[in-house]
Amino acid sequence: MRKAVCPGSFDPVTNGHIDIISRASNLFDEVVVAIGVNKAKASARLFTAEERIEMLEKACSDFPNVTVAGFDGLLTTFCEENGIGAIVKGLRAVSDFDYELQMAQMNSSLVDVETVFIPTSPEYSFLASSLVKEVATFGGDVSRLVPPFVLERLTSRLAERAAGGGR
Ligand code: ADP
Repeated sequence: MRKAVCPGSFDPVTNGHIDIISRASNLFDEVVVAIGVNKAKASARLFTAEERIEMLEKACSDFPNVTVAGFDGLLTTFCEENGIGAIVKGLRAVSDFDYELQMAQMNSSLVDVETVFIPTSPEYSFLASSLVKEVATFGGDVSRLVPPFVLERLTSRLAERAAGGGR
């Protein structure tokens, strides 16, 4: 049984993430999407851990071998505890590579885990959650970049924030 993890903050999940998760699900028997739920970073997030998990579960509901879990602390500990031998990362540009290579080497020095890089599909190479949030904040159309139910939640969360009533 080959098990992999797709880690990230997914604040919120984008079509770029779904593309990587879907391709990972073709390569491995089982894929766990692990959402960082570190409380120290909570105020930097637009969505709570519960909301991010819920959106990811919906986004992955068509993939029978994909499950979603929250994780706190080290990814390598999560891998050890769950019998996971591979970390799947999407690579967008060369700028992702330096940091990802360093992380991959650090992680494999800590536990017995391989990192597998999947190149982004060209149509998503510019896509990042942070950029989606920024563009949407200023009224840009992000409807082709996230699933419809994410767009809905994003729009209403940003409106709440703009009205001063949001978190
Ligand atoms: P973001 O940069 O969107 O905030 P996350 O921290 O949630 O991303 O990223 C989780 C993983 O998804 C990382 O491995 C990241 O490289 C990958 N990823 C994010 N966006 C894309 C994309 N557009 N194409 C390929 N991989 C991506």
